[in-house]
Amino acid sequence: MKKLMKKIKFEGIDNWNRPVFKAKDSRERFGCIHELFDYDATEMDVLSKVNEEDLCYFGNSFNCEPMGTNPGKHIEIAPILNPNFWDCECESNYIHAKTQKSCEFCGAIRDEQPDSRQAEILARTN
Ligand SMILES: [Zn+2]
Repeated sequence: MKKLMKKIKFEGIDNWNRPVFKAKDSRERFGCIHELFDYDATEMDVLSKVNEEDLCYFGNSFNCEPMGTNPGKHIEIAPILNPNFWDCECESNYIHAKTQKSCEFCGAIRDEQPDSRQAEILARTN
């Protein structure tokens, strides 16, 4: 049986300190009402404490009152990607700038590899 996964991405922390996720292809918002965060919490902070099972349906806009209903369909948290970087196949130091066409260590080619995760890029430069 094919499961239809709705991909959602971290959008931010709302005025009530709740983490909010937005569906990729609609205005639907999902969030967590039992784990609260500072306003400047990052995607990585939130994902270390919250997963799909903690989320409920909020509504169609950021900062709306939560409807509180169970999503009812399968949702999947998709990491935020940064289009300026790509991942090669190396075990470490696998993040490359898009200006680099290939990795000299593993031979991965930029155009065949996925974009890098924003959280991993931030972790690397901290
Ligand atoms: Zn490599």
